[in-house]
Amino acid sequence: MTNSERLLLQILWDWLREQQSLLRSPFFPVLFSLTVYLSFCLPYLCLDLLCSRLILVRCFKIQPQSKVTWAKAWRCLRKIFHNHVCFIFPLSVVHWYWRPVFFPPLAPEMLSVVINVLACLLLFDMQFFLWHLLHHKVPWLYHVFHTEHHLYTAAFSLMTEYTGIWEMLSLSFFTTLNPALLDCHPLTEMLFYVTNMYLSVEAHSGYDFPWSPHRLVPFGLYGGAQHHNLHHLKSKVNYAPYFTHWDRLFGTLQRLDTQKKSRNTETLKKL
Ligand SMILES: [Zn+2]
Ligand SMILES: [Zn+2]
Repeated sequence: MTNSERLLLQILWDWLREQQSLLRSPFFPVLFSLTVYLSFCLPYLCLDLLCSRLILVRCFKIQPQSKVTWAKAWRCLRKIFHNHVCFIFPLSVVHWYWRPVFFPPLAPEMLSVVINVLACLLLFDMQFFLWHLLHHKVPWLYHVFHTEHHLYTAAFSLMTEYTGIWEMLSLSFFTTLNPALLDCHPLTEMLFYVTNMYLSVEAHSGYDFPWSPHRLVPFGLYGGAQHHNLHHLKSKVNYAPYFTHWDRLFGTLQRLDTQKKSRNTETLKKL
């Protein structure tokens, strides 16, 4: 690790340690979760707003015929606030009371942050894949616990956390468990949480940009927005949230058809 990387993480960590009274508050997890989530959703919601007016935006939309209406957005927001107030907040209070956060003076090393965040993501990907597969293969589980998330067949950012309480608690449990299993530094845990949230919102965004993660990660190892949009459209494919190896292994991987890709390219060329 270079000195500047070490210094950068230490400056960030020192600043966070100065905000300890806020970070230790039982309100912090709810505020942090909502702020991070809505900040990642906001740019995509602006694009959804522009989509019907600008062809330049529409040609990056995976299902261009679908519209994100205020009614849909409001329905998702109501659910998200309800879940946070009624379930995430009481759980944060229990967590705050039983397991107070410890703030060591030294920041983690950059290399360990990168390795641990990646390891947490890979673990989460596996856990969610198995949970998701099970909840699609057992009809009772699907209808009772997962059907709510499949309300719309075209994904959009605010749908990311449009889930029932069992699904939300399961995913929160995996997100909390993995950094604890790997004994991560609290800063690494926060960075994993933010990365996980970003990737989850991106997977539901409904947009396929040249800079989307699935285009940046080589060898088709990452599914992202294209992959998860097909899951919402067809339901019986692409169960993993991020990477493609589990779906490849279980024979459930499906890619967007090449016809659609070339249609998008043609639209772009006409502009
Ligand atoms: Zn599903
Ligand atoms: Zn989804």
